[in-house]
Parts: sequence; structure tokens; C-alpha cells
Amino acid sequence: MQLSRRVARIRESATLRVARRALELRAQGVQVVDFGAGEPDFASPRVAVEAARQALADGFTKYTANNGIPELRRALAERYRRDFGSPWTAAETLVTVGGKGGLFESTLALVDDGSEVVLHTPAWVSFVEQIRFAGGVPVEVPTDGADAFAIRAEPILAALTDRTRAVLLNSPCNPTGGVIRPEERRAIVEECARRGIVVLSDETYERFVYDGFAPGSVAELAAEFPDTVALVGSFSKTYAMTGWRIGYLLGPRELVDAAARIQSHSTSNATSFAMKGALAALDGAETEVRAMICEYAWRRRYLIDRLNAIPGIRCAAPRGAFYAFPEISARLGGNGAGATPTELAERLLEQEAVAIVAGEAFGSDRHVRISFACSRADLAEGLDRIERFLARS
Ligand code: PLP
Repeated sequence: MQLSRRVARIRESATLRVARRALELRAQGVQVVDFGAGEPDFASPRVAVEAARQALADGFTKYTANNGIPELRRALAERYRRDFGSPWTAAETLVTVGGKGGLFESTLALVDDGSEVVLHTPAWVSFVEQIRFAGGVPVEVPTDGADAFAIRAEPILAALTDRTRAVLLNSPCNPTGGVIRPEERRAIVEECARRGIVVLSDETYERFVYDGFAPGSVAELAAEFPDTVALVGSFSKTYAMTGWRIGYLLGPRELVDAAARIQSHSTSNATSFAMKGALAALDGAETEVRAMICEYAWRRRYLIDRLNAIPGIRCAAPRGAFYAFPEISARLGGNGAGATPTELAERLLEQEAVAIVAGEAFGSDRHVRISFACSRADLAEGLDRIERFLARS
């Protein structure tokens, strides 16, 4: 068999690989503490479960419109209009199979062979792979741990060329927790609009911000720059609905229609009854969302304080999302902890049954990612094990 050149350009998602090995160990009876997955440990909101159950009972199990049920598209457009003054209507809203689906379709819709997409790194694993899969060239702009991984306009604008089709923003950022300030976002959007470059903002972690930071949204700029501003969002993290696979794209009609056309030949509509659940969550799960934000804030403090107490580890408090991204390079090289973050993560999993993700997956050979989307008990136990592992390394 000869596989396509297109598929040879991409690797398996490193985060899913860690999850698979952790599952294998669990199947052997090992008590794994999982800091690898970006998966909330909370139950999906009751209203969502109830609405999906009702939809199933009512026989709402057929194909829907390819671009999603109209009431969900309307509700999403209305939510962004209300919160951020965006001009998008249901016609500029596409319901996708997870945020991942929306990102993939937008990338395929924008990128030709050799097109450049500028993104800040360290970055979520799938961005670079999706760009490569589409034939594009990821142009990576580093963010700096000493600057809390803030996403800055200047280096991003300096990376634009005649071949740039899109700038990809992810604030709050997975894996760094870095955020972009409104004035930096505006500077990027203004210059990109002038050059006809799309700014695609992945706001999957929008609600998870700490210490009073006001995240804003690219939606605030959509009325002013309607032809070049697009947003991807997701129900996965905000509402602890990862398995439901509901995300969305809002943006210029041309882009949304193109993404819908791609969707019409790949997944078709997102799951019918899951969309009903998502609609109920959007309208009726604010209490649960606030409770999750409070809990993440507590875990973040606890995790960061304990990490920084370990000799040779430095960890800036993430401004958003639910990951710590500690710098561990002082602990690498020629000792029991391994020479690279990948070796360290493998040894930690095999010796202490703690799953974390090595920084290489995100483009850093100095960091690891620790998810705090897990219970307080797991957090305490996992940190005990990490301390033990490093104490003898
Ligand atoms: N964007 C970022 C930055 C993510 O971390 C993830 C998931 O981990 C996604 C998008 C996609 O999430 P989903 O496809 O579950 O909506």
C-alpha cells in the first residue's frame, strides 16, 4: 500500500499517545494519575444531559441541516452579539464537530500549497499538523516564559509576508496559559485587515481566566473588520462536554460557507441530539461554569505553589486555561530524570504512573505540560509522586 504524501506530513497527536499509554497501564491494574489529558473532570451540565435525553426520546435522531440546527446557530450568534457586540448572525455561524472540526475546516478553506499561517508557540499540538496537512507552512513565533507567555503583536506582525493567509491566535493558550491583551489583539487584527489576512481566533478556553484578567474576544472587532475576523469556540471545555463533540465557527460569510462545504463532504452535521444538549448548556449552565472556574482557580494556585517549591522547577502562574507549563530544563541531562522532556515524561509514567505531556509536542524542549483538569485528590497524589521521582533523579 502507498499512503498519501499528505498523510505522511502529520504525526499522531502526542496528547492522545500519552492517554493511550496511560490507559494501557490502567488496564494492567496500575493506579495512574492522569495530568496528561485536557479533559475536565466535571460532569456535563444537567440541563444538557436532560435536553439530549429528551431529544433522543423525541426521535430527534435524523440528519439535520449540514451547518447545524438553526436554533443553536441563532443562540451562538446572539451570545457573541450580546457579550461582544459582534455582527454575526446565524448565517455566519457553523456548528462543527468539536472546535477541532471548525479549525480543520477553516484551515483547509484558507490554505493552499505553500501558504503561510503565523502562530505563536508553544502551541496546541493540532495547529501545526492541520496546517501541514492542508499543504501550508506554519510560521512559528515564540512566546517567552519570562513574559508569562504573553501573546504579543510585534513579533507576529514581523512574521507576516506576502504568502501569509492567516494568523492563528489561541488565548488563553494551550499549553502555556498565556493570553493576549485587547490592544495587542487590535494591532494584529488592524494590520491583517489592511493586508487581507484572516485572523482566526481559537477561544476554546475563553471562560477560564484568573486573577481578574478580562480576556475579551476577537468578536469585539468583528463589526469593524468583518471580512477578516473569525472565531472558533467549543462546548468541550467550557461546559465539560468533550465527548459530545460540539464546536463552532463564526466569521465572514465566505469563510463560513467554504467550511460548511468541506463539512458537507466529510462529517456532515454535528450529532443531532448533542446539538440540543449544547443549546441547553448555552442558555442554562452558567452556575456550573462559574463553579468550575472557581475550582480551577483553587487547583491552579495549589499546583503552582507546589511546583515552584521543587528544586530546579520554575512555573509562572498561567493567566488562563487549565494547564501549568513548568520549565524543567534544570532537571534534565545525564541523570535519572532523562535528557529531554519526552524522556522525563516516559520515566515518570513508567516509574510513578503519572501521565504528563512532554513539551516537544508543543514545540518546547524545556517544558512539560501538567493539566489541572483533575480532582484535588489526584493533584495531591500526583505531585507527591513527581516530588518522589525528582528527589531520586
Ligand atoms: N483548541 C485548543 C487550543 C484545544 O486545546 C482543543 C482541545 O484540546 C481544541 C481546540 C479542540 O477541542 P474540541 O475539538 O474538543 O472542541
